[in-house]
Amino acid sequence: MGWAIDVANTKRLKLTIELVPSTIWFSSLYRLMSKSNWRALKEEIYEKEGKRCYICGSTRPPFELHEFWEYDDEARVQKLVGIHHLCRLCHMVKHIGFWCHTSNGREKLEKLGLSRNDLIAHFCRVNGCSEKEFFRHEDEAFKIWEWRSKYDWRQDFGKYERFLTLKKHRRKRS
Ligand SMILES: [Zn+2]
Ligand SMILES: [Zn+2]
Repeated sequence: MGWAIDVANTKRLKLTIELVPSTIWFSSLYRLMSKSNWRALKEEIYEKEGKRCYICGSTRPPFELHEFWEYDDEARVQKLVGIHHLCRLCHMVKHIGFWCHTSNGREKLEKLGLSRNDLIAHFCRVNGCSEKEFFRHEDEAFKIWEWRSKYDWRQDFGKYERFLTLKKHRRKRS
C-alpha cells in the first residue's frame, strides 16, 4: 500500500478532505435512514456535543451532520466510525470534490456567495498550514479517491446499524 506518507501527514491535520469512492456515492447513512430518524440523531448529537463544530469549534450555525468513514484498503471495507456536527465551511472542505470539482457544486457554491478560495483559506486557518500544504493534501486525497473508486466496498455501519433497519428492508424488496 502506498498511503503510508499520507496517513502520517493526515494525522497532523485537524481538517482533512474525505472523498467517498464513486462506487458507493449514494450509499450514505443519510440516504438510507428515514428523515425522522435522522432528526432524532441530530438532536442526540446536539445534546451530547453542544451546538458547535466538532472540528474547528465554531458556534456559528448552520451545523450539518457529517459521516466519518474509515477504509480498510486490504479487505475493501468502508466503516462508519462517527457522526458529528460540522460548520458549513468544514463540511464543504470534507466534500470539496463536489463543491469545487463538479459544475453543479461550483454553481451552488457561488449561489451561497462562497468561492474555492474561501474553502482553502478555512482549511489553512483550521490546520495552521500553508496553501501549499492544502494543494498537496488535495492532490493526495484525489489519488486515493481514484484508486478506491476502482473497487466495490462492503459497508459496515458499526454502531449506527440500528438506524437503518427499516429502509434496508424496503430496499431489499424493491
Ligand atoms: Zn468547522
Ligand atoms: Zn459530510
